[in-house]
This record gives sequence, C-alpha cells and structure tokens, in this order.
Amino acid sequence: MAVVGGSGGMRSEVDVVVVGAGFSGLYLLHRLRDLGLSARVIEAGDDVGGTWYWNRYPGARCDIPTTDYAYSFDPELEAEWTWSEKYATQPEILAYLRHVADRYDLRPDITFSTPIQSAVWDEPAARWRLRTEQGEEISCRYYIMATGCLSLPKVVDIDGAERFRGEVYFTSRWPHQGVDFTGKRVAVIGTGSSGIQSIPLIAAQSAQLTVFQRTPNFSIPAHNGPAPTERLAALAADRAAYRQAAKWSRGGAPGEPTMLSALTSPEDVRRERFEAAWEAGELFEIIGVFNDILVNPAANEIVAEMIREKIRSIVRDPETAESLCPKDHPFATKRPCLDTDYFQTYNLAHVRLVDLRKHPIATITESGIDTMDESFEFDSIVYATGFDAMTGAIVAVDVTGRDGVTLEEKWANGPSTYLGLMTAGFPNLFAITGPGSPSVLSNMAVSIEQHVDWVVNCLDHLRTHGFDTIEPTEMAEAGWVQHVNDCGAITLYPTANSWYMGANVPGKPRVFLPYVGGVDVYRAACDEVAAKGYLGFTLTGPGGSQCNDGVVRRLQPDVAMVVDLMASMGLPPMESMSVEEARAFMDVSSAQRPPGPEVGEIVDGVLPGAGGELKYRLYRPADPGPHPVLVYFHGGGWVLGSQESDDPLCRDLCVRSDSVIVSVDYRHAPEARFPAAADDAFAAVQWIAANAIELGGIPGQLVVAGWSAGANVAAVACQLARDAGGPGILGQVLLAPVTDWDMSRPSYTENEEGFILTAGLMRWFWDHYADPADRGNPKASPLRAADLSDLPPALIVTAEFDPLRDEGVAYAEAMAAAGVPVRHLRARGHIHTSLTMVDLILSGASVRAEMADILRELFQEALSHA
Ligand SMILES: Cc1cc2nc3c(=O)[nH]c(=O)nc-3n(C[C@H](O)[C@H](O)[C@H](O)COP(=O)(O)OP(=O)(O)OC[C@H]3O[C@@H](n4cnc5c(N)ncnc54)[C@H](O)[C@@H]3O)c2cc1C
Repeated sequence: MAVVGGSGGMRSEVDVVVVGAGFSGLYLLHRLRDLGLSARVIEAGDDVGGTWYWNRYPGARCDIPTTDYAYSFDPELEAEWTWSEKYATQPEILAYLRHVADRYDLRPDITFSTPIQSAVWDEPAARWRLRTEQGEEISCRYYIMATGCLSLPKVVDIDGAERFRGEVYFTSRWPHQGVDFTGKRVAVIGTGSSGIQSIPLIAAQSAQLTVFQRTPNFSIPAHNGPAPTERLAALAADRAAYRQAAKWSRGGAPGEPTMLSALTSPEDVRRERFEAAWEAGELFEIIGVFNDILVNPAANEIVAEMIREKIRSIVRDPETAESLCPKDHPFATKRPCLDTDYFQTYNLAHVRLVDLRKHPIATITESGIDTMDESFEFDSIVYATGFDAMTGAIVAVDVTGRDGVTLEEKWANGPSTYLGLMTAGFPNLFAITGPGSPSVLSNMAVSIEQHVDWVVNCLDHLRTHGFDTIEPTEMAEAGWVQHVNDCGAITLYPTANSWYMGANVPGKPRVFLPYVGGVDVYRAACDEVAAKGYLGFTLTGPGGSQCNDGVVRRLQPDVAMVVDLMASMGLPPMESMSVEEARAFMDVSSAQRPPGPEVGEIVDGVLPGAGGELKYRLYRPADPGPHPVLVYFHGGGWVLGSQESDDPLCRDLCVRSDSVIVSVDYRHAPEARFPAAADDAFAAVQWIAANAIELGGIPGQLVVAGWSAGANVAAVACQLARDAGGPGILGQVLLAPVTDWDMSRPSYTENEEGFILTAGLMRWFWDHYADPADRGNPKASPLRAADLSDLPPALIVTAEFDPLRDEGVAYAEAMAAAGVPVRHLRARGHIHTSLTMVDLILSGASVRAEMADILRELFQEALSHA
C-alpha cells in the first residue's frame, strides 16, 4: 500500500523505508522495487553516495582495489564502468554511485536533506512510525537502517575546541568546494586512515603543517596506479567465477589463504613473503601475510617489527620515526592504512609531528593549540578524529521498539543482534552491515550486497508465505552474540583499544563489534538460517505465527573449522580400518600437529607395569624443582597411542600447572585386553608415588589424570588406590572420560557422528578392549562401582559435542553424591578431541588455563595443610 501525502508528494505510507542512500541504500531500493514493494529512501545528505558524499578530504580513496570495491549484482553495470586507478579517489567513487542512481532511476524515491529523528514500533498496527527532522511522519511495515558503519563523526572532546577563531574542518564533513591551504599554518589532529590519506596532500599545499598524533597506526604504501592487471585479467576471463570467489572468501576479495606461519617460517622465507606483501600494497595481502599473526602475539610481533623497520628506514629524524612506530596494539587489530608517501611527509622541513602521548594537548585556544609544554599558532585546524563506528548512526535515531524499550537502552552494555541484521524486541527492523556481521573487517561492497540480498529475500519469503512481521528469538540472538564473542576471543582483536571495540568513543561499552569469523563462514550461516525456515526467527501474519527456534552456530569457531576440514578430506572412518592401519594413521596425524610449548626438560624412561615394563615420558618445568607430580594417561580407546601421543597436551599442562608430568604408556588392546590397561595404570601410579623424589617431584603432591580412555584408567587407578589404602592421591583430573559402557545416553545420539569421535568408533574401541561380560566391571566402567566415596577430589572436564559427555557428567554427579569434592568444567562448543589440539583449537586454551588454575589451587591447598 502506498499513500500519497508526504513531503514533495512522496508517499507517507509505504511497505519499506530505507534510511541512507549510500552503497547499501541504493542497492536496497533497486532490489525492493524489483520485488514490487513500495519503498522510500530517506537521506540526510543532499545527494547519494553516503561515505563518498561526505568524505571529500584531499587524498580520500578506497583501501580495497576498486575492481573489487564495486557492485557485482549487474554484469551490464560492470561492463559499462571502467575504474581509472587501482584505488579510485572519492570523486570517482561518488561519480560511480551517482551513475548507479541515475542508471536505475532511483532518485524519484529518495528524499534528500532529511535526517530521520525517531522511529517507534506501533504494535497494534505492526508498523514503524518514523519522524523526520522536518516533522514529516512516515509509516512503514519494514524499516531498514542503511545508515553506515562509519557515518557518524565522533564528537570532538578536546578542551577549548569551540574557542578557536580560525578555520575548522572535519575530514568526514569536508566542504564541497574544497579547501585551499596555500600559505596557511595548518594543524591536523588524528592519524587514522583519513589523517594518513590527507596529511601528505595538506603538507604539499600548506606553509606549515603540524600533526597531532595520539596513536600511531600501521600503514603500508598503497602503490597506487593503474587497476591491477592480474585482477582485470581474472575478471575478464570469468567475471562470474571471480565474483563468486569474492563472496566465498574470508575478506570479500578473491585470494588463497596462506599456510605459512610467521612463527615457524625460516627468516629468509618470512622476509621474502613480507616484502612481497609490502610491495603488493593491498590490505588483505598484508593482513593475511602469515596465517598466525591475528592469533599469536609472537607471530604478530614479527610482522609488526618488520613494519616498524620500514618506518625507521623512511623517516630521517629518529625521534619522529620512533613516535610514528605503533607499539600499543598488535598489527592489524586496527584496520591498517594504505598510504601514499605518508611517512616520507615527515621528512619535509615544514612538517612536524607532535606526539600527544609525550606532549598532551592542554587546550585549544583562540589562535591555536597549547600542549602541556608549548603553544602553537594556526590558521586552520583539521579534525581527522574518526567515527562513532558501527552503532553510532543506528542509535543516533531515537528507536523505540516493543513495550517502549529503546534501542539505546537495549544496547547500553553493547549491541546484541542476531546475525548483525536484527535485534529482539524490534520487529521488522533491519540493519545493513550491523554489529555482529563482518562489515568493517571485510570488503564492504561484498558484505553490503550479501546483506541486502538476504533482507530482500526475507521480505519476499514473508510476503509469499502470508507473514508480515519477523523478529529474532532471545535464544537465537544470545547464541549469535556468544558465537561472535567466541570468534573474537581466539584472536588478538579484543586486545587493542580500537574503534572495532568502541574504545575511541568515551563512555561507549568495550565490546568487539564486528564478526571476525569471515565473510564466507558468515554467508553460510545466513544461508543456513534462511534454508531452515528462518531458524531463530518468529514469523507472524494474519494466519498465525511460525518459529523454528534454535542457535545457528554452537561449535567453537575453530572447532568448526577442524571438523569441516576433516569432513572435506573424505577419510575412511577409523572403525573401518585394521588396528595397524588406525595406529599408522594416528602416527601420521601426530607428526603434522603443532608441537605445543617448550618445557624445561623431557626425559624418557621405563617403569615396572603390571605385566612388564612400561615406557614413560617426563616433562619438567623450566623453573627449579622439586614440583608437584601429575601422572598422565593418554587417550586412544585402549587401542591407540603411547606415552608420546598426547605430547602437546602434556607440554601445555606442564607449563600451565608448573608440575612434572609423567605420561605413562600402558598395554593396549586387542593384544592385551581388559583389565591390562587398568592394572598397568595402577602399577604406574604406585611406582611414581614411591619414586617421586627421584623424578624431581614433591612427595605426596601427586595427581592422577588422563584423557578419554586414559581418563578411564586414571579413574580406575584412583578407585584401586583407595581400596588398597594407597598411594595417597591429591586429586584426579579426568578429561572427557569413559566411565560407563552404556551407549544409550542422549550425548551418544546427539553426537553419534560428525565430531571425530563417533559412536561407531567408540563401539570399535569397546569391542577391542573388553568382552561384553566384563564391560560392567568397575575396572572398565568406574561409574558402576558400588562405592564412590573417599575418592580423591575430582576435576572433570566434559565437552558439549562428545558422545562421552553424559557419562562424564554422570560420574561427576555420582562422585559428588558420594561426598567427593568435584569440580566440573563444561567445555562449551567443544568436541572430544578439542582440548588435546593445542595451538590448533585455540579456544580450548581457556579451558586448559582454568584446569591449570584448579590444579595449582589443589597443590597449594595440600602444601598449606602439610
Ligand atoms: C573515508 C572512508 C573510506 C572507506 N573506504 C572503504 C574501502 O576502501 N573499502 C571498504 O570496504 N569500505 C570502506 N569504507 C567503509 C564505507 O563506509 C563502506 O564501504 C560503504 O561506503 C558504506 O555504505 P553504506 O551505504 O552502508 O553507508 P554510508 O555510505 O555510510 O551511507 C549511510 C548514509 O546514511 C545516512 N544517514 C545516516 N543516518 C541517517 C539518518 N538518521 N537520517 C537520514 N540519513 C541518515 C548518511 O547521511 C549516509 O549518507 C570507507 C569509509 C570511509 C569513511
């Protein structure tokens, strides 16, 4: 329905209002019209372009090659537009967006110079009521905020700013007629992307330029020039394939992720690769130069230092060079800048850098700027101070949803969205590239098209299925927020005080705003939600409502990657292999994994088992002992593995808990079936307890631990020690333990396959290990012991997506019921193997850290009682 009566004969009642006429708003309008929906676009500026309308400062360019930073929805549009440079200037990008507006005749439905002030959800009518600054009221069914992630300039918060009598400019609100700085004394405040792009050009004009820098930023030369020939050739060869590759890439531009690690690559390889990325002058090349720089601080520092070396080699004054070297945040945790002669500019005699960390601004005066130790006189001040990013423009509109709750209230502690697209309590309100989506971490042209397509397809779905409202459920939204945080947590991003974290705006909650999981992974999640009948959304219409509630991503992001990788390899299931083949396969896999941390010393030895000698490997911390001792039994279903097979985990445990780890092998099935493994484990614990001093341990400070089947024999050894009256054991640490042969618990059905340890494989292990008649024996199923009292205090770790989860839970509960002190860590989003995959599944590190803390506590308590 469209009712005419609004300003300039525009309709005051429409199906959809889009706020913003940038990249997002223009494409939205085009698609909505195709769908036959009535739509209006409301824009604060007096022309289309958004970012490229407002940011007219000298040197403004894109930082993604324009071959990629452009619409891809219409091959004809692509064919008729040729970019003149690798990184087009703002006027050229604006001309492109104007061309798009004219080509698709979009202007008649755009109202310019009209800021939207408020939006209120009218529950009975199931419509949004919007109000413009001029007082016009517009009613719409769907309200889409295409208001931009970097569109609300940050308010200047420098004392005395209003007193300055000279010219004041903001890079984000640059005068349309341009500015002539010839002969002027100019100050630029801010060295983010806009500052870095504009400073060389302002320097070229002005008589004197002083740059006030709070935070130095990483920047690499753009090496601008003609559009890159290899990209043009790839596009010409197969445009559709090129665009498809961009859509399914990590960042939104085609490219193969590297397998090279900064940490482990030899110096010459490392240097060569870095220099190539430096020369390429592309954002995703330098961010992706090695595969570990965004997750490993040491790897990151290698690249950060190589960039600092470049800065020092360019800037002649050593003090200025040092001030320009970023040291307070890891490389790429803020979007790195691409520049043209930025660092070279500081070699010019009339350009000076003021490092605000050393010389803070005291006040802005009528004629210039006073730092704590110097007064400066200026004709002009340029603020390049950035934006209230991602949420600023959204909450700048007074949005009131269901039950009178405002968006500002709901997001007071940080934004909460489902897929970065919608938020519960605000039906039919969509945000394009909102918080919780890849947005500013990606090539935004690609992310914008993906969001617009998803929203428009969603509206089409609603219409064709007789629904008129859509809203995420609390569960789906909480799940997504958790997933976004999980993704951020395994990276270094949250360690930086960046605008990604809201840290540039005083009082803004520190929350990692964008989704770091990748454009490809994100697209798959959005597609899956739609394909599952809009999973996690409630759809309502005159005929009733529908809700397929759920959480779209529950696995930890790195676990999901490993699971997907394994699935893509198409390996035969282990249970289809012979025992020899399975053991050989395990050896090959183990050889390829990251080694784990360095420990002080590793000693191999043998000890007497129940049926002959057993090999052990001892890991000693670097600091002088003696240390507490942890006896560790490896996993492998009583069939596979050795004292070395959980090497990375043992190293990690050693370093984190500061204890000696003695990893003991035991006899394996099918050669030695039940109860050989259990008897060996008990014999090993007895021997290690008796020889603690010789092993460098503290007598009496003994914990028994294991993973999977190793946790099974560890648990049994603790029961045997209790029954035998010794040795004394301080605690038992059971990681994803096998405690019962019963496979009918829900975790078996839920996780039957797909998460590496399958129900079929567990059956195979049990068949090799124990006759059915023996499986209920407590030496095989410790949960079945008649008495669970007086066992050592236990730390049990269970993984959410593990067939063994529920028997671990059952053992924790049963021991607690018998009076044993039990700590239970539930590894959310993890699988059976997660915690052993050190430096591969990074999200497991926090669980291991928690385990180590508990272990240390246990040892400390014992020492204080001794
Ligand atoms: C200087 C600069 C360079 C950039 N370079 C790149 C790049 O190279 N690659 C990249 O991927 N991204 C880049 N970006 C990010 C860029 O913002 C996006 O790529 C893209 O242009 C965003 O388009 P949009 O339509 O979503 O938002 P915008 O272009 O920001 O448009 C939003 C529009 O909404 C309007 N608006 C906001 N609130 C209201 C309201 N209440 N009422 C009415 N109108 C309102 C604004 O006036 C604005 O015109 C850059 C950003 C900046 C600032």
